[in-house]
Amino acid sequence: MTDSRLAMFGGPRTVEAGAGASPETAWPIVTDAEREAVLGVLDSGRFTSVERGEVQLLEQEWASYVGVRHCAALSSGTAAIELALVASGLEPGAEVLVPAFSFIATASAPLLRGLVPVFVDIDPVTYTVDPVAAAAAITPRTQAILAVHLHGLPCDMDALRALADRHGLVLMEDAAQAHGATYRGRQAGALGDVAAFSLNASKNLPTSGEGGLLTTDDEAVYERVVLHRQFGEDLTGRGERAYLSRVIAGNDKLSSIQAAFTRSQLARLSERHEQRDRNVRRFLRRLAELDGVVTPHCPDDRTHAWFQLRLRFDHHAMGCPDIAPGAVRTLLQRALRAEGVPVRPYQSLPLPAQPAVRSSLPQDRPYRPDDHPATLALIEDSVTIQRWHLNPAAGPLLERCADAFEKVWGQLDLLLPAARSMTYEPLWRQADAVGVRA
Ligand SMILES: *Cc1c(COP(=O)(O)O)cnc(C)c1O
Repeated sequence: MTDSRLAMFGGPRTVEAGAGASPETAWPIVTDAEREAVLGVLDSGRFTSVERGEVQLLEQEWASYVGVRHCAALSSGTAAIELALVASGLEPGAEVLVPAFSFIATASAPLLRGLVPVFVDIDPVTYTVDPVAAAAAITPRTQAILAVHLHGLPCDMDALRALADRHGLVLMEDAAQAHGATYRGRQAGALGDVAAFSLNASKNLPTSGEGGLLTTDDEAVYERVVLHRQFGEDLTGRGERAYLSRVIAGNDKLSSIQAAFTRSQLARLSERHEQRDRNVRRFLRRLAELDGVVTPHCPDDRTHAWFQLRLRFDHHAMGCPDIAPGAVRTLLQRALRAEGVPVRPYQSLPLPAQPAVRSSLPQDRPYRPDDHPATLALIEDSVTIQRWHLNPAAGPLLERCADAFEKVWGQLDLLLPAARSMTYEPLWRQADAVGVRA
C-alpha cells in the first residue's frame, strides 16, 4: 500500500526536485553559446558600450524583435524606468499613474526622479492596472501612465491608449516581466510611447547579472536617454571625446559582457517561450479542475510570457467561506511546500503600503488600504511559482506539482480545520499598526 498521507503529516513528498539549481530548473540556462559569447568579449578587449560591439548589436536585435525604431541598453530595468520618465519631459512634481500592485521599482523610479506616483487598483482578473480606476485617478497634474505587464501579461493597452490620448498623457510600459508577450499581435515594448525591460538574471530574457533595455519609436526620447546614460555627454559625433556634458546625469550603461550573454539568450527566446507555454498551459489546465483554484486568465487578444504563475484560492468555491482567505492560503502554502511545490508569495504589500513609499507620499494623499480592494484581495488569497518553470525542461516537474495539488485537494478535509483555528494577521495590517516614521 502506498502512503497517501500529506508530506506535511509525515507522508512522502510528491515533487523530488528542490528549488535549487538542477538541469530541469536552472535559470538562466548557461550553455557553450553563452560561454563563447562572454569569452569573445574578453578576447576582443571591447568592454564598454562606448566601443562599437555587443551592446550595439543587442540594441539592434531587440529593436527589431520588438518592432520599434530605437533601443537603448542600460544598467538595469530600474534605470530604464527612470530614464524613460526623465526623457519623456514630465514636469517636476507631475503625477504618474502606477498600479498599486507591482515590484517596488515601479514606485521608486518616479519618486527618485521627483515625480509623484498615484496608485491605481488592479483588475481582479488580469492583475494589471484597471483602466476605469486609472481614469478616476486623473487630475490636472497627471502627466503619465506607467503600465506594468505584471507576471508577463500585457495590460489592456487600447483602453490605456484612449485614456492617455484623451488627457494628453505619456503612456509608458514597465515590461520588465514581459519579454516576448504580445497584445493584438504587437510585442510588449511597442505598445506605449516608451518601454522599460529588465535583463536581471531572474527575468525571461536574462543577462549574467544586471541590465536593462529601453525601447521607443520616438527619436527625441531615445536621444535624451542616450545622453542621460552617459554623464550627459553626447558621443554621437565623430572624432575625439570632447568631455562636454549637456545635462547632469549619471552612468547607466550596459557592459559588453552582459550584452553578449543576453544576445545568446535572445537567440533562444522564442523557442524557449513556446515550450514553456506548452508546459505551463498543461499544468494550469490540471489545476483549473480543482475546486477553488483560480488559474491565470490570458485574454484571447494577448499572449502571456509566464514570468510568474499566480494561483488564487477561492475560499467560497473551496467550501470554507468562514475562514479568512489569508489563513487558507497560508495553510495551503505550507502543505504544498511540504510536497515539494515551490509556492511563495510575490509582493506581500500594496506598493503604497511599503514603508518607504508611504513616507514619501504627499500629506494630502496618505495611504488608505480601502483604496485598492482588488490588490489586497489578491495578496491575501494567492501564491506564486517563480523562476524554475521558466526552464523549458521543467515540464515533467510541473506535472509532479499538479500531482501534489491534486493530493492536497484530495485531503482538504484534514487541512482546513487547522486553517480555521489559526490566528492570521495580514502583513499590510501589521505594517499599518507599526506605522511609519519619516
Ligand atoms: C524586475 C523588475 C523591475 C526592475 O528591474 P531591475 O533590472 O531589477 O532593476 C521593475 N519592474 C518590474 C515589474 C520588475 O519585475
